[in-house]
Amino acid sequence: MIGLDQFRLDGETAIVTGASRGIGRALAEALAEAGANVCVVSRSEADGQRAADEIADATGVETLAVRADVTDESAVEAMVEATLDTFGAIDVLVNNAGIARTAPAHEMSLETWNEVLRTNLTGVFLCTKHAGRAMIEGDGGNVINMASMSAFVANYPQEEVVYHASKGGVVSFTRQLASEWAGYDIRANALAPGYIRTEMIDELLAENPDMEEAWLSEMLMEEMAPPEDLGGTVVYLASEASSYMTGETIVIDGGYTVR
Ligand code: NDP
Repeated sequence: MIGLDQFRLDGETAIVTGASRGIGRALAEALAEAGANVCVVSRSEADGQRAADEIADATGVETLAVRADVTDESAVEAMVEATLDTFGAIDVLVNNAGIARTAPAHEMSLETWNEVLRTNLTGVFLCTKHAGRAMIEGDGGNVINMASMSAFVANYPQEEVVYHASKGGVVSFTRQLASEWAGYDIRANALAPGYIRTEMIDELLAENPDMEEAWLSEMLMEEMAPPEDLGGTVVYLASEASSYMTGETIVIDGGYTVR
């Protein structure tokens, strides 16, 4: 007997950044389904509130929507305070908020480079720093970072060196954080998805619809996944089911990086 109860998160509190839509929204709902109360973070107040309300209605847990830009340290601190005021503790942090920008390296503006690194990497650091303090002062916890298969392989045909640099950084950050915070009973792991059908992908395809065929031709599963396909893995990483795992990155890419 493995005891499926080890996947339950009843009474725990999870923060999910970028949870107003797409992958973050699906991960927040999966954590809620496992019993966790969820703080939905995004820059759009209305979208975040709508997602939080829908997740509460669907799962019966308590949710909170907080408007915060993960690149703004004072907004991140306020978001952590609001979560603690509402739920009393932070057990799980999912650093999911992220953006993608395409441009050839020799034409990419410094502004674009900084925008992506600020969101995808500095945002992960800021949320980890402030939510992590609460975990250290509490009973430990779990940090789950959104990397990408782009941390491990070159993507084609889009040109996006800064996205790859940011996600490679997330994998490395996760490994080092796991080492530094193991003594506080905090685990840190990452997810590295392949192509997941979200608005981010729709925006990329709007720039160049031919890319889809190139992507699908590399995938063993020959289709993009819906965001819900990542829900089981985030519950695994957030729960006791993965209690002996830290510093790792799980690739879920329909077989894209296999060959
Ligand atoms: P979407 O663009 O669909 O959603 C992004 C979410 O992040 C939105 O909720 C957005 O809300 C929020 N967000 C963006 N910037 C910030 C910010 N500065 N502060 C707070 N929230 C922010 O993206 P996906 O769901 O596709 O991607 C989610 C994550 O998964 C990203 O890290 C992405 O890199 C990663 N990923 C995605 C893959 C895919 O194929 N879709 C593949 C691999 C990884 P708002 O604009 O209101 O702030």
